Amino acid sequence: MALIVQKYGGTSVANPDRIANVANRVIQAWRDGHKMVVVLSAMAGETDRLIGLGKELAEDPDPRELDVLLATGEQVTVSLFSIFLRAQGVPATSLLSHQARIYTDRAYGRARILGIDTARIKEELKKNRVVTVAGFQGVDEVGNITTLGRGGSDTTAVAMAAALKADCCEIYTDVDGVYTADPRICPTARKLERITYDEMLEMASLGAKVLEIRSVGFARRYGVPLVVRSSFTKAPGTLVTVEDEEMEIVPVSGVALSRNDARVTITRVPDRPGIAVRLFRPVADANIVVDMIIQNTSIEGYTDLTFTVPQDDLKKTMELIRPVAAEVGAQQVVGDTNIAKISIVGVGMKNNAGVAARMFEALSGENINILMISTSEIKISCVIEDKYGELAVRVLHDAFDLGQPPPKR
Ligand code: ADP
Ligand code: ASP
Ligand code: MG
Repeated sequence: MALIVQKYGGTSVANPDRIANVANRVIQAWRDGHKMVVVLSAMAGETDRLIGLGKELAEDPDPRELDVLLATGEQVTVSLFSIFLRAQGVPATSLLSHQARIYTDRAYGRARILGIDTARIKEELKKNRVVTVAGFQGVDEVGNITTLGRGGSDTTAVAMAAALKADCCEIYTDVDGVYTADPRICPTARKLERITYDEMLEMASLGAKVLEIRSVGFARRYGVPLVVRSSFTKAPGTLVTVEDEEMEIVPVSGVALSRNDARVTITRVPDRPGIAVRLFRPVADANIVVDMIIQNTSIEGYTDLTFTVPQDDLKKTMELIRPVAAEVGAQQVVGDTNIAKISIVGVGMKNNAGVAARMFEALSGENINILMISTSEIKISCVIEDKYGELAVRVLHDAFDLGQPPPKR
């Protein structure tokens, strides 16, 4: 008998039929004697619909009130799910974040989970009930409703599994595992049996939305066995796990595409100590995450500075940078959302030379111009024009033979 946390994403609970379909899986596992905690997302499209409603009334809806609004999406699915379970004679209780006692900080829209008090859930489980928990939401110390950021139900599930010391956390979605690239973009993408926490962290942060990045961080930190599976088939799925030697045979395990970044270029910046900090300090103070930064070689005391930020933060970044750029005597600030970031990821990269050259060669073979480059121990990312993003995924997938199973040791 195991304690299992399962999470079902938006497409898996998109309508009553689908809710019944996935609930039957839960019932089966419960009848087999397992203790079941089920974390649910809002119905597919619901969170976007709610954001749209808010924006009809305000260009920039108040973050606190927006979170109150968005949290309703998950309230609908957990209650419907429990209604169905009870109608089938299965005892079930739905819990919202204040009842499940998921405590977060007060960063509305991107709140962090600080702790979970599992007493209530454990009580329910002791009574042999299935517990359905609203994903994506928490409460701060005085009871304000917060949300965790898009895709945050994955994080709720893994954090819950860690807090309950569950035997396993299963993420059910609309693909049957983690693939070498987004299978919707790359038809030859191959399902991975296993992927390391580190690789999955990189893939998630670089655009593979199959798992939300913080959920992978939690899983790694607390050693939660994490499986990604399909809610529509019985296929075995992908295990996210620790690294072993066999995994290092291939230099590249996956390709990821992100279309959520924007590029900011500041031209003719005086090249003196202290200028960079004046430009970046206000951006940092506004909690905006700057990703890649490039500073060109200085010519006659001036340089160009280019960096990327999340697209949603571009407007704010421009507002912050423009006055400082004028103050320090820079020429111009230009924002560009027409970019994509294409990345290759692999723990095996550490021990394999020539990976970057092979990447650049493949891109140049399709005449794709590289605008920016950044690397870490296990990834290489290039910023390219947005229109080439999907082509670049397929080209790199081919160039590194990712459609073929790796050789066995
Ligand atoms: P859910 O609503 O269940 O949370 P998401 O839409 O957030 O589902 O994530 C699943 C989607 O992630 C898939 O439909 C797929 O298009 C996309 N995806 C991107 N990269 C990958 C990848 N490497 N492997 C699998 N799916 C991926
Ligand atoms: N409903 C939220 C979203 O659409 C959270 C989630 O689905 O994980 O982002
Ligand atoms: Mg998701």
